[in-house]
Amino acid sequence: MRTVYGGGRVFDGTGSAPAPADVVVEDGRFVEVGTDLDGDERVDCSGTTLLPGLFDCHVHVMFSGVDVLRMVQTPFSYPFYEAIHNLRVTLEQGITTVRDAGGADLGVATAVRNGLVAGPRMQISLNMLSQTGGHGDAWMPCGAELALLADHPGRPRTIVDGPDEMRRKVRELIRNGADVIKVATSGGVLSPRSDPRRGQFRDAEIAVLVEEATAAGRFVMAHAQATEGIKVAIRNGVRSIEHGIYLDDEAIDMMLTAGTWLVPTLVAPRMVLDLVDLGAALPQHMIDKARMVIDDHTASITRAITAGVPVAMGTDSGVGAHGQNLRELGLMVECGMSPAQAWHATSLSAARLLGVDEEFGSIEAGKRADLVVFDGDAMDLEGITGRVRQVYADGRLVAEPAGAE
Ligand SMILES: [Zn+2]
Repeated sequence: MRTVYGGGRVFDGTGSAPAPADVVVEDGRFVEVGTDLDGDERVDCSGTTLLPGLFDCHVHVMFSGVDVLRMVQTPFSYPFYEAIHNLRVTLEQGITTVRDAGGADLGVATAVRNGLVAGPRMQISLNMLSQTGGHGDAWMPCGAELALLADHPGRPRTIVDGPDEMRRKVRELIRNGADVIKVATSGGVLSPRSDPRRGQFRDAEIAVLVEEATAAGRFVMAHAQATEGIKVAIRNGVRSIEHGIYLDDEAIDMMLTAGTWLVPTLVAPRMVLDLVDLGAALPQHMIDKARMVIDDHTASITRAITAGVPVAMGTDSGVGAHGQNLRELGLMVECGMSPAQAWHATSLSAARLLGVDEEFGSIEAGKRADLVVFDGDAMDLEGITGRVRQVYADGRLVAEPAGAE
């Protein structure tokens, strides 16, 4: 059965400009891209741009907005049910693959893999490695611990100090199902006692982490906002810098030399401030930190884009509402990307970061048929979050957002 998606323009994911073309799918794979193609069945895509299945390399499907008062009153298992909703609205953005940066466990990923729950393909990290007093430490000034999500057998506590504890914990995360290892090498916005401008963990600890992850065939992603935290990650072979708020010229050079990816999450601090506007109960220090970082973040990412650092799209969705992932593209364009570069960061570049570019990330013969039908000209990003019409995974229709015509 050959299905032709015809009459639209095709953005194949490689970064080149879209052009009118038909796409043929057979047995869940792209088999042909070209003009005047025929098949057994035709899907009219006129007036649309066909995009490859999109990626968000930094989500938290188990978080539904960070609101401290609400979170402490939420029953332990409720976030698993919220994740069902979060996964569906993410898929409706055309996102067919996500990397969960903390929260989702092997049960969530397995439910999606088995088709029990609709959602994007997932790489999971379970929980973020952090030093005592680091970005992942839930210690509160009153002495209580107030984690965003409680530890449980599938999502172990990940506060470690020293190379030996680090080695054991990385092995435990891999045992429990982690596809990727997440570490905080600097402070952050949402943690009570950490400073986004200060590095966390020393070289000896990160070296052991990367050594263990590599031995198990896993990549490492680093929450890294502070300059020193970014550098300790790059120096020791971490694959992607998440957030990258305080990049200096040396850090950018190091990334170019090592081939390190940047996942900017420009929308993240904005989502925190949106929550405040909606009345979420956030401590003042979180609000102050979100405001403090926005301008530096924009300047830092702009310098990295200008220098040619490889970028993959990520949003930190979960910090705020899910299902607005594509907002990030407009912000990347404000930092100097062309729309084609922003879509490339959301497709093939992201697939490369996740190590799945043999099968996903572009519309090319032989690859699996993850496909997004996007209303109008995709090089115009106006109203981007409401323009996904249909989403296909392996050639099967998996989402048809209600907002689209
Ligand atoms: Zn995050």
